[in-house]
Amino acid sequence: MTTLSRLQYDIDARVQAIREAHPGWLCGKGCASCCRRLAEIPQLTAAEWRLLREGLAALSPERLQAISRDLAALVGQQWRPIVCPLLDPSTNACPVYAQRPVACRTYGFYVQRSLGLYCHKIESRVTDGSLADVVWGNHDAIDRRLAGLGETRPLSEWFELWQLNSSFPGAAGKPTTPDQAFCATRPISAERPLCPIPSAISSS
Ligand code: SF4
Repeated sequence: MTTLSRLQYDIDARVQAIREAHPGWLCGKGCASCCRRLAEIPQLTAAEWRLLREGLAALSPERLQAISRDLAALVGQQWRPIVCPLLDPSTNACPVYAQRPVACRTYGFYVQRSLGLYCHKIESRVTDGSLADVVWGNHDAIDRRLAGLGETRPLSEWFELWQLNSSFPGAAGKPTTPDQAFCATRPISAERPLCPIPSAISSS
């Protein structure tokens, strides 16, 4: 068992315990409320990204192209909240649910004392007393374990690096233009948005 899968196992145990104690728990397929209210572009450790990439690799080239476009638009976006660029708008579901990041697995079930309960729907149930007996997981402990899973980057950066790599579905395999080669060496910022999409996928 890897460090990440062990962490996921522990998270799932906490989530299952809460669900069993509260059969009407609000988190469920089709809600996606949290996916539409992100405070920032998802941040992933290297181990989380490797897992997520497996799920992304199974998506169609057209879907990956749409994700790439949405990520590029998000890099310079000033307003909040952010809608996760991976969320499938046609189903309102996560297309990489099995490979989703730890933050998505813990949302609504774990809390950081200083940052509240995150999900406003759940928070209101806590306030009205109907969820007063919930024993939440400790997100500070999750963060400490995440720190051992490699460097953390925004999803936009991981995705871009993948686009420039031979493992990207339909990609040419390496930076194919001077712009792409330049982008691959530079950190992403509002002034330097995502690299051009490799031609093999942008024309598919
Ligand atoms: S990765 Fe999936 S579960 Fe996480 S915010 Fe995006 S759509 Fe939602």
